[in-house]
Formats: sequence, structure tokens, C-alpha cells
Amino acid sequence: MSKSPDELVFAALGGVGEIGMNLGVYGYGPKNRRKWLAVDLGISFAPPEIPGIDIIMPDVAFLEEERERGNLVGLVLTHGHEDHVGALVDLWPKLGCPVYTTPFTHALAEARRLGEPGAPKIPFHVVPSGGRAQIGPFDVEFLPVAHSIPDSHALGLRTALGLVVHTGDWKIDPTPVVGNVTDPARFSALGDEGVRAVVCDSTNAIREGISPSETDVQGVLAELIGKAPHRVAVTTFASNVARIRSIAEAAMRTGRECVLVGRAMERVITVAREQHLLDGLPPFRSADAYGFLPRDKVVAILTGSQGEPRAALARIADDDHPEIALSPGDQVIFSSRTIPGNERAVNRIINALVLQGVKVITDRDGLVHVSGHPRRGELEQMYKWLRPQVSVPVHGEPLHLSEHADLARAAGVREVVRLVDGDMVRLASADPSLAAEVIEEVPVGRLYKDGHVLVASADSSIAERRRMSFAGLVSVAVAMSAKGEVVGDPMIDLSGVPQRGSGGKLLDDVIEDAVLDCLDGLPKPRRRDPDAVAESLTRAVRGALNASWGKKPLCHVLVITV
Ligand SMILES: [Zn+2]
Ligand SMILES: [Zn+2]
Repeated sequence: MSKSPDELVFAALGGVGEIGMNLGVYGYGPKNRRKWLAVDLGISFAPPEIPGIDIIMPDVAFLEEERERGNLVGLVLTHGHEDHVGALVDLWPKLGCPVYTTPFTHALAEARRLGEPGAPKIPFHVVPSGGRAQIGPFDVEFLPVAHSIPDSHALGLRTALGLVVHTGDWKIDPTPVVGNVTDPARFSALGDEGVRAVVCDSTNAIREGISPSETDVQGVLAELIGKAPHRVAVTTFASNVARIRSIAEAAMRTGRECVLVGRAMERVITVAREQHLLDGLPPFRSADAYGFLPRDKVVAILTGSQGEPRAALARIADDDHPEIALSPGDQVIFSSRTIPGNERAVNRIINALVLQGVKVITDRDGLVHVSGHPRRGELEQMYKWLRPQVSVPVHGEPLHLSEHADLARAAGVREVVRLVDGDMVRLASADPSLAAEVIEEVPVGRLYKDGHVLVASADSSIAERRRMSFAGLVSVAVAMSAKGEVVGDPMIDLSGVPQRGSGGKLLDDVIEDAVLDCLDGLPKPRRRDPDAVAESLTRAVRGALNASWGKKPLCHVLVITV
């Protein structure tokens, strides 16, 4: 048997074919002896169909196994967004590897970690923007890119089999207000060096043209705040430091003070001040100052742009915030985009504000928000700079990935590989006859954060909770003697079940009849087996409820032998 050649491979454990929970892995070496580098460790937010779960993260079983074999060399974080770093505190203990990132992302991750009691100490290696780190067989360069959070980086991964550019989240914005610029000279120099493959952001691959600049948004916000007769409240993503800076500058120029509301935002602002990203601005006031400021001398910057029910904006819309209230004629600017899935929550807040007489301005009314991801014109530019042999579209839903793949082909990329979470693609091989293609599957899955613990998405507790939310729960307790005779009356308790069935009969009675009939009809030997009694009663109760109500709730039967 011939020795298997060295290969450079990539797989996504999350973030490909879906939005959020990004986790990519690069492997280098011969099959079964590869060294692995993980890139990003993000979360996504759970849809309402999963009761009691807010946060989803990728299952890292694959990396845990490689760690045990001594093959996991490190984790690199490209930037500080939740879909790239949000799972760090929960999942790092399973990985136990060094974590490489740049200064602002590091400070933000540390601030978040220190905010969680009992969080593990994480061995960070802080690399300067533009710097390099040798991590196992990977020489990693942190390439500055513009994005909607400061300190975002693409990665140049150099290996003995060539250079891969992992773009992370990026756009081209020569005037980003705060943070990195995507440097055309640096990226075309990489193209001159020779790029084997690019693994690239697909978020906006269905949008034509070039994204407007953050500076354009700054101008629009300054005009709105300048013209506002009364109070202005602006809600935006807590991590968008450039946007917060634009709002604060507009406030300063119009003689208004900025009040900052929301814990996530306070945390980011503290880090941004330390990193000198807010130099030249007066300090922000805290929420308790709001009530003392004249109506035309205040701008409130709020969390809650996605309709989060516990965030500042939702509470203000419900007139339920201890410090912040709005009056008719005040303005609320949504300097944000509604993430798909949050539309109902956001609309509810908009309507509540309108009912209060507040003027609401969203991105439908003007350029009050801009995306941090590349549109088609920017993707085309990146392909002109890098001229890669291989393209792998990531960070998107299937439609985004497929549009990006077509664009890459049209841009002259010879090998475009479409993949979904769990596909392992060969990017390069020591055997030049082998093409870039999907060669293996790696195990993938999802973990749910349930209270303080992580459970697999396939865990029975989740399915049970969904059934309970759909059809309630019936509990029955029966005492039996050793001879198999019923002692006393069965006890029945209902949760989430209506009072009456379709014929008007009390469902309590329906269940009681079903329990008694079932016990009467049980043959003697079966009555002496508590498990068999419980099974029969469960079937009888669910059957009777299905006939009378049309639904089968969860049913717990406890048979106690006395
Ligand atoms: Zn991002
Ligand atoms: Zn992202």
C-alpha cells in the first residue's frame, strides 16, 4: 500500500448552509495523522420552536477526539462577533488548546469571560494586527479587513502546500469611521505570491454592487440627530463601535449628551475606550442621568435592536424601564438590520413605540444602517486581488453559497467547491493529480445551552419539552398491593390541558374513567407488574384524550407498590 500524501483540508463544523455558529477547521498532513487548526467558535440564536433554549452552538466532538490524539494545535478568532466567538467560554474546556487573536477581540472575549462566574482561564496568544503566528504546520497572518466591529481579520494560512486565505467577515470600506480598512495592496500582494484557495464570506452574495460606507451612515445619522426637535434614541448592535462613535460625534456637535443603556453595550464601550477607539469624545452618561437632561439635549444609545424582550428598547416600548421613558414627538432610530427570525419581535416594539406617539426611523426610511459583509462587486474585487485556484464559499445559507459559487466561477476560479457543515474538502495535495473536492465527512451536530448546561440537540429532554408545549402533561399515580389490587383512589394531575373535551365532558372525568376502566380490565398477572400497569395506563389515558380532545399529551404514570 502506498503512503498517503500530505494534504491540506478544510471542513466546517458550523456556519455553512446556515447563518451563525461559525467553526471552521483546517487540517494538514497525511490522512489519519493530520494536525488541526480551528477558526472561530460562534453561537447562533435559537428559534422560538425550541422551548427554553436561547443559544445554539456547534458540537465539537470531532475536535475533542483530535485533541485526545494530540492533533489540535490551536484556535484562531477572526473577530469579536457572537457568531464567531460566542461559544468560547462554554466550549473552550472541551478543546483546551491555545487561542490566538488580536488585541480588541482578545479584550472583548476576556471582558465577556470575566462576566461569567466560574468561567475557565483561557490561554490567549495576542497577535498584533498584521502580525503572524506559527501554529503547528500553519503560519498564520492576521490580515486587517473592514467589518462592522473593530479589529476584524482575514487569515493568511501558509503551509508547505500553499497559501489559503480565510476571509472571515469582511467588506471593502475605505472610510470605516473606526477600525480596519481592507488594504488593496496587501491583498493583491497575496495574489502575486500565489493563492491556492480562498474560503470566503457569502452573506451578501445575492446583493448587487458595493456596500455603502460607514461614513455615509454617519452623515445620515448626524443630519437626523441635528434636525430632531426632541429626544433621540438610537438602537444598534452593541459591538458596532464605529456606529456608536458616529452617534456620539453627532450628539456632541449638536450640544447633546449621550446616555448609554444596556449591559452588553457598556462592556463593549469600556473595551473600546481602553483601546483608544473613542478618543476625543466626552464620557457617556449612565441611564440615571437621563431624567435630568432637557429633551433636546439628549441622545440615548440603546441595546435591543433585535426585539430582545429583556433589552432596554423593549422595556422602553412597554413603558416599563426604570430610568428611560419617551414622549410623543421623540424619535427612535433603528440603526440596525432585523436578523431573519426576529421580525415579529421587532415589529411588536415598533408598533408599541408608534402607539406612544414616537417617530420611528428604520433602514426603510434612509441609510441609517449598512451591512458589514461584501456585496457582489466587493466579492469580484477580492477575486481580482487574490486570483485563487480554488474557492470555497462559506458563511451563508444555501442560496448565498450557490450565488457565491456562480460568481466565483464567473470570476475565473477554476475549482469551486460547494460544501455543507460536515463535508471535508481537499484544498491541496502533495499529489498534484488530486483535485480540490469533498473527500470525507466529519461528525457535526448542535449543542443547546439549557440553563447552565449543554445538551445535544437530539437529547430527549428537548423533544419532551416541545411535546409538553404542544399538548401538556398528565400525571397519574396509582397505589397497588403486592397481590395486584388497587389501594385507594388513583391521583390525577393535569398541566396545560383544557378543562373540557369536544363533547363538553370534563377531561378530568375522561381521564379518571379511562384509568378505572383500564385497571378493571387488566388481567391478574399483568397487575402484579408495575411497569406493565404503567404502560397500559399511559396508553389508555392518551387514547381517551385523543378521542375527546384530539391531542395526546405526555403522560407520566407512577405505580407505587404498597
Ligand atoms: Zn462578523
Ligand atoms: Zn459572521
